[in-house]
Amino acid sequence: MKKLFLPFILILSLNLQAQFTSNVDFKKYFENSTMRLDYFHNGTATEEHFAVDRILNDGSWSGSKSILIDDLNQGLYFFEVLDKESGAILFSRGFSSIFGEWQSIPEAKEKWGTFHESIRFPWPLNPVMVLMKKRDDKNNFVTIWETEIDPKARYVNPAKNGSGLASFDYMVNGPANEKLDIVVLGDGYTKGEMQKFHDDVFRLCDALFAVEPYRSRKTDFNVRAVETPSMTTGVNRPHPGIFKRTPLSVSYSSFDSERYALTYDNRTVRDVASTVPYDFMFILINEETYGGGGIYRLYSTVAADNKFSEYIFVHEFGHHLAGLADEYYTSDVSYQSTEITVEPYEVNITALLDKENLKWKQFVKPGTPIPTPWEKEKYDSLSYEIQKERRKLRAAKVPESEVEALFEREKQETSAILDNMKYTGKVGAFEGGGYLQYGYYRPYDDCIMFTRNKQEFCPVCQDAISRVINQYTK
Ligand SMILES: [Zn+2]
Repeated sequence: MKKLFLPFILILSLNLQAQFTSNVDFKKYFENSTMRLDYFHNGTATEEHFAVDRILNDGSWSGSKSILIDDLNQGLYFFEVLDKESGAILFSRGFSSIFGEWQSIPEAKEKWGTFHESIRFPWPLNPVMVLMKKRDDKNNFVTIWETEIDPKARYVNPAKNGSGLASFDYMVNGPANEKLDIVVLGDGYTKGEMQKFHDDVFRLCDALFAVEPYRSRKTDFNVRAVETPSMTTGVNRPHPGIFKRTPLSVSYSSFDSERYALTYDNRTVRDVASTVPYDFMFILINEETYGGGGIYRLYSTVAADNKFSEYIFVHEFGHHLAGLADEYYTSDVSYQSTEITVEPYEVNITALLDKENLKWKQFVKPGTPIPTPWEKEKYDSLSYEIQKERRKLRAAKVPESEVEALFEREKQETSAILDNMKYTGKVGAFEGGGYLQYGYYRPYDDCIMFTRNKQEFCPVCQDAISRVINQYTK
């Protein structure tokens, strides 16, 4: 961190923020290309460092030209692009990262980790400062790194990315600057399986656009897919001992969690994705085994051939697009919880530290008690019993159909509880959410972010998704 520069920038940006927040003149500061800052993000549980890798031209700018400042306040990290001369904030976005998740697992206490990441913003005409911020222990953003970029310097590469990869459209509704652009990638599909990839893209996108608010806002989206044929079918699955190498390096067992499927090969994924204009990305995995993952503004993944693929896809995309928290808490995940002293920043869970100012209070009808009573004990004992059963089946390496049958039973039995409660269908504050059985509350009896029972987001999650769509279409 350059100690001399920082206080100067902070003072200036505070003064100029009001003036520039909603009204950055795109043409004055940017050209219609995307600058991609690639960097290495490394550290341990208690420290982190950044080092620039490359600065590239990532194709034409696909985001909005009028909404350049991000006021959604989501994600663990937040970056700002400042005009170097005036200190004015020209662009900002919140996001989350694999590094941020990795820091919370036990491994990070013992060794260093390095992850490759990218941030993308419109191509600046003049020198800029890029500020990287992170939540502190009160969830406020503080600057942890800054770097200067002169767009005319030799270390900046303005050459166009010619990936040469084939692409196809699911739907194109208008210019990239006025739509939310999704790119779909596929991993573990051979050349002979490209028709299957095509069919999988259409099937899963059809499922996404059948769910609100995507359904009513379908024409606000463009969706395109890029083909990356693999030499072998399927992807790496370390838990059952099936090892493979594929073009995008997607692998199950991320953080040693059997169903968590991510790729760490950010360089390759980004180069492939920018074959077409994109704001958000999902990666289809040519596998049957239940799995996927979703990180806010990085990407989401899903196993395409599982009985629950449509559900997992919409769920994981909720993490990726809107930074939604998991509303479930009875399954074992590789995060460690700490004592609750601050409000979580995600829009769909609360610690209810200030009951009068519930963050989704505009959705709560008068007469709904906060916290909201529900059949928690019944639900918890059933759900924990099913989790135990699931672990047993996985350990015995049974066929996928046996796990699916268990999930089907869970669906029937938990629906019977959740669908018939006094406050079913009413927004309130239901205890249990964000991986915590007690202390965190979710807004609704059920939601795609809670169970696999219904293909429906709760009203709070729907609203959050809509606000992100607005950021790309206005
Ligand atoms: Zn929800």
